[in-house]
Amino acid sequence: MSASTRGGLLRATVARVFRCSPGSASPTIRILNREVPPGAVRLLICMGHPHSIRVMIQNQKESKGAEDRVAVGRRAYVETYGCQMNISDGELMEGVLSAAGYCIVSAPEEADVVLVNTCAIREHAERRVLGRVSQLNGLKKVRPELVIGVTGCMAQRMGTSLLEKAPYVDLVMGPDAYRTLPAQLERVRSGEVSSSTDQGLDVLLEGAPDPDRRRPAGAGRFARQAPMPGGGRGKKRLQLAVLDLDSEENYEGLEQRRTSRVAAWVPIQRGCDHRCTYCIVPYVRGDEKNRDPGEILTEIRHLAERGLTEVTLLGQTVNSYRHGDWSFPRLLREVGRVDGIRRVRFTSPHPNDVSDELIEVMATEPAVCEHLHLPAQSGSDRVLRRMVRRYTAGSFLEKVEKVRDAIPDVALSTDIIVAFPGETEKDFHETLELMRTVRFHEAFTYKFSPREGTPATRLPPEDFVPEDEAQHRLEELIRVSREIRAELARSEVGRTEEVLVEGEARDPGHLLGRTRRSQVVAFPEEGRSIGDYALVRLTGTTGATFRGRVLDRAARAASA
Ligand code: SF4
Repeated sequence: MSASTRGGLLRATVARVFRCSPGSASPTIRILNREVPPGAVRLLICMGHPHSIRVMIQNQKESKGAEDRVAVGRRAYVETYGCQMNISDGELMEGVLSAAGYCIVSAPEEADVVLVNTCAIREHAERRVLGRVSQLNGLKKVRPELVIGVTGCMAQRMGTSLLEKAPYVDLVMGPDAYRTLPAQLERVRSGEVSSSTDQGLDVLLEGAPDPDRRRPAGAGRFARQAPMPGGGRGKKRLQLAVLDLDSEENYEGLEQRRTSRVAAWVPIQRGCDHRCTYCIVPYVRGDEKNRDPGEILTEIRHLAERGLTEVTLLGQTVNSYRHGDWSFPRLLREVGRVDGIRRVRFTSPHPNDVSDELIEVMATEPAVCEHLHLPAQSGSDRVLRRMVRRYTAGSFLEKVEKVRDAIPDVALSTDIIVAFPGETEKDFHETLELMRTVRFHEAFTYKFSPREGTPATRLPPEDFVPEDEAQHRLEELIRVSREIRAELARSEVGRTEEVLVEGEARDPGHLLGRTRRSQVVAFPEEGRSIGDYALVRLTGTTGATFRGRVLDRAARAASA
């Protein structure tokens, strides 16, 4: 344990903290297994990295009678919107903040720092975030020292214009800058501007556009002094926009803060080398960056040692992963062989990278689940060409056939966009045809949402499908997809499935679990708890989820 004093406070770094009650009036604290008497230590807030926890201790001797002073650790709340990659980034930010000594809390009302981690895929999601941030401003009016940050893809896309739209926001940070999060938060709190790295916002607002339009104008760091909320008698605060686009940053060496005891998302790749014409991702997350396989495997071994048995490998086009000699199939095989890992999933693959080798690994590695999420986006070759997806409906169907030949029991899910500019009624019917041919277990369906800066927004205005027609197509697609899903679900009632228990169901005494094919089942708990595996007979379906019953030993033997 090393210690130093500052302002009457003993600042200590300890190797292990065994028990603490953050926020309690009389916390019981054990440091290196020795109980510290109440009164000697006034408050300790910590939940950092287990090997490096920073604590603030107020010691009576040091503070010379100022026993009523309390050193409060900072508390952060991260609210995440969007895809699994963003959820995983939320865990990464929590990990970075925990390691810097923050306590992660579960409500914005309890926090000193609130981060809204955003998605930019759809306009609707961005509007929702702006509404949420304005709601959080209500807290800032009561506590002007509250720091509000907006992070993620929307932050990168909007940049400093977000500070114009929502002037109560203190920090705007894109997905490549999370390593610097604690330092930038400190700067926001201290009001310090560093002229070597920060430029005036006005410079950014007039910034030259990126000539090849692969990246938005305005990547960089920007700062300005702004008035305190409510006028604040001439006092100023610092607003920061940290919009680094770093082609090397894949967050190696940082730990996510994972709360699930059952399953973990493991990012193996960031960014994307494709340029699908509707998609904002490459412009806000940059080009593809793949993590070192050794580090990925070490992380997964640690997860298995903690008792987690299921991992999902994450990447924007996860199966294009390559690092030196390592291809995605090789990595998938090795992950499936980590001791203690019983289930491996991955999302989202690009159809073009579904190779014979990948199919072979999926078919032969027992831990790799019989589920494949394969985004089709459209069933029309014309539309796929305009989307620059680089495959045809025919080649997509060939991949599906190969996967089904090798893994007959595989469950397939997909993403589909309707009303892409120029989509005709005929194109739309080809998409419905693809749905009926493949019979996906699940389809995530979207109406085209123009994203400023993407090539699709520059298509001729007359190509844009009118809103009522787009809505009509979406509803028709949802109807067809639900019909197929319900038919498949009804045909699967009576099957016996291995279920991993993920949580409690809404009905008291019932649990919720997921099958290897990613179907959700609710069943009476019968001695099982979260993290357990159970053999469950599917007894009924709502069309989307299943009801089930745990098989007793005799039934298990009979079904084996
Ligand atoms: S593959 Fe296409 S849709 Fe997927 S993230 Fe990359 S650009 Fe976007």
